Amino acid sequence: MNGQKQNIIQTDVVIIGAGPCGLFAVFELGLLDMQAHLIDILDRPGGQCAELYPEKPIYDIPGMVEVSGQELTDLLMTQAAPFKPTFHFNRMVVALEKIDDRLWRITTDAQEIFEAPVIVIAAGGGSFQPKKPPLAGIDAFEAKDKTDGAGVHYAVRYVQAFADKHILISGGGDSALDWVLNLQPLAKSMTLVHRRDEFRAAPDSVRKMRALVAENKMTLHIGQVADLKGEANVLKQAVIKTKAGETKTLAIDSFLPFFGLTMKLGPVADWGLNLTENLINVDTASFATDQAGIYAIGDINNYAGKRKLILSGFHEAALMAHDAFSRVYPDKKLIFQYTTSSTNLQKKLGVK
Ligand SMILES: Cc1cc2nc3c(=O)[nH]c(=O)nc-3n(C[C@H](O)[C@H](O)[C@H](O)COP(=O)(O)OP(=O)(O)OC[C@H]3O[C@@H](n4cnc5c(N)ncnc54)[C@H](O)[C@@H]3O)c2cc1C
Repeated sequence: MNGQKQNIIQTDVVIIGAGPCGLFAVFELGLLDMQAHLIDILDRPGGQCAELYPEKPIYDIPGMVEVSGQELTDLLMTQAAPFKPTFHFNRMVVALEKIDDRLWRITTDAQEIFEAPVIVIAAGGGSFQPKKPPLAGIDAFEAKDKTDGAGVHYAVRYVQAFADKHILISGGGDSALDWVLNLQPLAKSMTLVHRRDEFRAAPDSVRKMRALVAENKMTLHIGQVADLKGEANVLKQAVIKTKAGETKTLAIDSFLPFFGLTMKLGPVADWGLNLTENLINVDTASFATDQAGIYAIGDINNYAGKRKLILSGFHEAALMAHDAFSRVYPDKKLIFQYTTSSTNLQKKLGVK
């Protein structure tokens, strides 16, 4: 079902979140003839994969030896395409209400209304925002154009944007160290600043970073960035206070602070669902919540043994779709089929 009534979008399933798990849910639902609309706060699909690590390789997707966050997103989009999902980007789902025993209503901050018998919450960690260092005036230097590496960036969208830049990275975790190692070969200069000489990042990354320092290919300062300076919103310098008490002024083009992310669950917390520490409790046979017709898959859900892995979310999407079928088609019997052997499924996929 896919329709519109008095500006209300009616469909079989509304998926909140177009991250990898939401995207794969489109495929699993589509195989069972359920049409989906997806709503996401971001301006494009992929969730964390596209927003936080588009160019980093993922090594634990079954059958894919290595795939970057963006490549995985693109492949999931291609896989979902035969089922013609409708995307609504740059919108936050703000309300979820029960209409009757069959239907749920969703409202976005763009005042759209959706009605569907099945709602899939694939909202990951909610709306994630970088933790900003407490530096006066940092907002003015934040890069508006992500294809230009100049200025302050909290994530790397395009590696090449940082070619030939004087780069300062701050932080001691995996993101900071990974980007030091990935950007150093193309940067004009690379400096890492961290408040202590111990790092939370993978030991191999720390070893590689220290080797670059020993070879004079980059600089490490133990201390903190105390000030940013520039003209007309163009970043020019960073002032560093070292742990030893020195003050150093560095000429820089790009500043990348990696202080982690604040995951704000946002409105999901207000929808009356059974939560454990801001995660939605689900039944692992179906990934249904305690509200009939509402499912939660991916990083947003909670159950014994849960691991926040993409492959777990894919499994959850498949079981969710099989359970959701009976809500969308209460009078039909679901017949389990394999894509390899079912000509019916292959027809849906456009296989010739
Ligand atoms: C640096 C890094 C490396 C990683 N490496 C791996 C790895 O190697 N292997 C692996 O398996 N996993 C890895 N992960 C974890 C993996 O990215 C997550 O498990 C996965 O993204 C979860 O997918 P999801 O679809 O559940 O949620 P997300 O990817 O978080 O997507 C959720 C989407 O929902 C949207 N949203 C939230 N609330 C609302 C709302 N109210 N209205 C509208 N939209 C909303 C968000 O904008 C977001 O786009 C990594 C994570 C990070 C940060």
